[in-house]
Amino acid sequence: MHYSIKDISGIISEDAIIVEPSLIIDNLLIDSRRLIFPSTTLFFALQSERRNGEDFIEELYKAGLQSFVVTKNFDHSKYPQANFLKVEDTLRALQKLSAYHRKQFQIPVIGITGSNGKTIVKEWLYQLLHTKYSIVRSPKSYNSQIGVPLSVWQMNETHTLAIFEAGISQPGEMDFLENIIQPTVGVLTNVGAAHSAGFINKEQKVREKWKLFKNAHIIISNNQDPVITSAIETEKKDRLFIWGDNDADLQIKKVEKFVSSTNITATYKNQVVSVSIPFTDNASVENAITCWSVLLFLGIENTWIVQQMKVLQPVEMRLQLKKAINNCSLINDSYSNDLSSLRIALDFLHQQSGIQPTTVILSDLGEVFSSDEQYKKVLQSLIQHKINKFIGIGPRLGALQADFKQALPQSFFYPSVEDFLKVFTNIRFRDEVILLKGARSFEFEQINLLFEQKIHQTVLEVNLTAMAHNLKEYQHYLQPGTKVMAMVKAFSYGSGSAEVASVLQFHKVDYLAVAYADEGVELRKSGINMPVMVMNPETITFQSLVDYNLEPEMYSFAILKEFNEYLENEGLQQFPVHIKIDTGMHRLGFEEGDFNDLGSFLKANPRLVVKSVFSHLVASESSTHDEFTKMQVQQFTVACEVIKNATGYSFIRHISNSAAIFRHPQFHFDMVRLGIGLYGVDSIAESQLSLHPVATLRSTIAQIRKVKKGDTVGYSRKGIMQRDSLIATIRIGYADGFNRRLGNGVGQVYLKGKLAPVVGNVCMDMTMLDITAIENVAEGDVVEIFGANLPVEQVAKWCETIPYEIMTSVSQRVKREYYEE
Ligand SMILES: *Cc1c(COP(=O)(O)O)cnc(C)c1O
Repeated sequence: MHYSIKDISGIISEDAIIVEPSLIIDNLLIDSRRLIFPSTTLFFALQSERRNGEDFIEELYKAGLQSFVVTKNFDHSKYPQANFLKVEDTLRALQKLSAYHRKQFQIPVIGITGSNGKTIVKEWLYQLLHTKYSIVRSPKSYNSQIGVPLSVWQMNETHTLAIFEAGISQPGEMDFLENIIQPTVGVLTNVGAAHSAGFINKEQKVREKWKLFKNAHIIISNNQDPVITSAIETEKKDRLFIWGDNDADLQIKKVEKFVSSTNITATYKNQVVSVSIPFTDNASVENAITCWSVLLFLGIENTWIVQQMKVLQPVEMRLQLKKAINNCSLINDSYSNDLSSLRIALDFLHQQSGIQPTTVILSDLGEVFSSDEQYKKVLQSLIQHKINKFIGIGPRLGALQADFKQALPQSFFYPSVEDFLKVFTNIRFRDEVILLKGARSFEFEQINLLFEQKIHQTVLEVNLTAMAHNLKEYQHYLQPGTKVMAMVKAFSYGSGSAEVASVLQFHKVDYLAVAYADEGVELRKSGINMPVMVMNPETITFQSLVDYNLEPEMYSFAILKEFNEYLENEGLQQFPVHIKIDTGMHRLGFEEGDFNDLGSFLKANPRLVVKSVFSHLVASESSTHDEFTKMQVQQFTVACEVIKNATGYSFIRHISNSAAIFRHPQFHFDMVRLGIGLYGVDSIAESQLSLHPVATLRSTIAQIRKVKKGDTVGYSRKGIMQRDSLIATIRIGYADGFNRRLGNGVGQVYLKGKLAPVVGNVCMDMTMLDITAIENVAEGDVVEIFGANLPVEQVAKWCETIPYEIMTSVSQRVKREYYEE
């Protein structure tokens, strides 16, 4: 199904400027950063609280994009070569187009909603059904007002079944999603906790979700929850397929859990049926029964279902960047192998690779029904993402190698994983960023193992999605136009430098700040090209500051004069600098008595260009010191006035750190400096910010032993056993950043839902735990030192310090793993 721009105009816009009516549109774009196919893409300029999509039109137009959906008042006269479809509301127009597209297909469409389990149920249905149907489904968890239309837009003539998720956060939203998905089969998963933000109560939430089923021929749901039961009661019987107890269609009789599997027995149409799944947690059992109901409803034989259920795979929804052999980085995406997930992974690869060369190792697509056409799209995506090296594994890719080699000279093909493994060591992967993406049947796990660097088993996991979320959370408190400088000093508070900076650059933060020139050089070398401020420039680093276009902080007359002289000797003009004012911290900076001389110096030496003037608040988190904070701001304002009057031009003014962004909105000036909050730590006890933890430090158990009452554990015999105990040794010590103050019962680590106290002194590379009270612990089990389950704030308290110190002390020998959710 192809639409010309004229067709689309007929569907969504009565007011269009069309210069090329026959232009075919294949792709819809809402995020300007993700442009791949300029000539066949239609951009929807969506409006959000912080962003107006119309601001990106100029840049997209320059990149070759020709078709735009904009609001009525947009002035298109600057873009004579482009098509403009003018509408009241760009989001509604996107939804309208998708709804129209959906109407062109008569295939069964499964619409899934619920509070938990939507994505798992969708992915499992795909795993269970993909050999019987050619399936189109929502990529990842695209289930929002924007995600749903983009998912539905993927439908084409080759598909025989569609599976889409719908997620809502407030009343009124489901009507729009229902109209786009138009499900013929409705599926309700778990509806979760009694209360959730956006809804008055659970009844309202269920009623709203139920709207997805307005026109469905059948609704598949459980009757395990009184609120759901009351919704069921108002429905016609023949529109329901219920699982649960009593009068359900699929009556669950027995759930038996074993070590790593669960047997579920039920009666269906008066027959006893059962399946076994390789999971034991309650959520998986519930999701599996939901899938089972869908398959039975579709009329699939239970004997066939049994075979498929046995091999259900966990759904891995995140992309991870890990350090690998020979200074490579590896993204292993075993999620699934189809075109839409490949594009998401290529975006992540592109964003993370900076200037390093990129390699893609790809198997044949997982879709049994994929066509040559789809493989051509794979190739196009690879070209658009400027992939340097391509390795194709499988017969389908092998058959197309001539096409691939023509476009990507560095392409290599192997019929199977085994063939590839044979030559692996000869290929010499080095200093590259590698995307490993294989359909499940290819078992790319073996390739992954060869790439993995097994140094030791302690890892700092960094959740880049959580970081982006935290950034947004703070941006809510800014006036439009207020800039953000992200503090990435000390390896981004321990979380890693280039990887974190790439994400910040991607999210269009305005400035980065590091403590030392080396840190800035590191960022530049990995392809970060946004402005970077260096807070502690030293004379010996002037050359690298200039070479790498880093902007130094000037904090004294001595450094100011030296740097000015340096620029003069080098014949450099107009170099950007940042002026630091000391308003009370008494660390670095010009004081009140210096302001006039500083002004005169800057006026007399125009080769220094003041990019910004800033100061640092010493106690912005505490109301006790609010008077002092005001005084600091007062002095700062005076400094800015004096400098502005002397130089005659304006500059960026900034004084607020994380705590001040929230507590002192009146002191944001032109830019704020976001530090600790970005990494998920809230420095204000009573704030309403909802931050997500970014870093999780975890290790593994090397050995477990019994130690008798009265015996001792560790150096200096400090850990004296008060009873017969079970002791576990973990692979982390003070050299990794596990603070020695945590020893002798002061600190604990999280293990299997419980806390295990540290026994005896912490060693350099290892630590012993008392696990007597924790059941079923085995060697190799993972422990969390801090993270989502054990907040870094708690660990800091045990050590009588602040989270900043705990986070920045994780040593460089601890491997960092980055992922996106
Ligand atoms: C570290 C630092 C910040 C960030 O402070 P947070 O409390 O982490 O938000 C801001 N400004 C300067 C000058 C800093 O050194």
